[in-house]
Amino acid sequence: MEPPFTGGCQCGAIRYEITAKPLTLYACHCTDCQKQSASAFGMTFRIQSDALKIIAGKPKEWHTVADSGNAKVAHFCGDCGTRLYNAPARHPGALSIKAGTLDDTSWLQPVGSVWTRSAQPWVAIPPSPLNHETQPDSMQSFVDAWQDRNG
Ligand SMILES: [Zn+2]
Ligand SMILES: [Zn+2]
Repeated sequence: MEPPFTGGCQCGAIRYEITAKPLTLYACHCTDCQKQSASAFGMTFRIQSDALKIIAGKPKEWHTVADSGNAKVAHFCGDCGTRLYNAPARHPGALSIKAGTLDDTSWLQPVGSVWTRSAQPWVAIPPSPLNHETQPDSMQSFVDAWQDRNG
């Protein structure tokens, strides 16, 4: 898939466009992502910050600290509550788009899963050398695997 990628919140007040290829895509089974998504896991579509253009509305911000201990700023729709993306403090210049907010999710396939030790027991995690029980020290192997697969 080639950029731009479009997406938005559930009510449509906030719309965005991603103008460059993503860095990687992975699933996160941490308890934070389970709570945030109100579901079994989160999907992180990592992009460079300057690739995101908000084309309608203005996200609200919430400052929090992840299970990994890393601070992040969460951006969400103040009307419908949909989480759109996080700005992780330890990766300035990168954003974690919540992949389920993309208009077209049909082509998404995570390269690996992190925090598998807290995955809900029914979830079948596809085998991958990139699966980690907690947070890996570096996400570089996730970026490399995505580039290998998607160019
Ligand atoms: Zn909304
Ligand atoms: Zn998580």
